[in-house]
Amino acid sequence: MGRVFLIYFDETPVTRFYLCGACPAHMALRQELVVFGNQGLSPVIFVLRRRDVNVYALSPGQDRMVGARTLSDVYCNNCGNLLGVKFIEVANDDDGAVRAGYFLLYRKNLRKWNGQGIVA
Ligand SMILES: [Zn+2]
Repeated sequence: MGRVFLIYFDETPVTRFYLCGACPAHMALRQELVVFGNQGLSPVIFVLRRRDVNVYALSPGQDRMVGARTLSDVYCNNCGNLLGVKFIEVANDDDGAVRAGYFLLYRKNLRKWNGQGIVA
């Protein structure tokens, strides 16, 4: 994989972002995420739409089919912690919320910068 360069967000009182659950690597700004699951309760999963910050997916050939979707596991670039999955292929008749190239990060595998500190 070569040398790993990590991207860090500014830890200011007005920023909100998520970190790897196992190391200090920053993962996604709050505004980049679409919350799935029980939004009124504790959210369980997120989709990162734009880019893969500080994560890597398994190489082609290690993908797996789940229903009409092809997924690849996604790991932290810094420590290798499993964070979620990347959608490699999505059927055309899917509901449109998920597209190929999107990332789904499991909330339970992340921590959060809440503007003042890092919380679970
Ligand atoms: Zn990590």
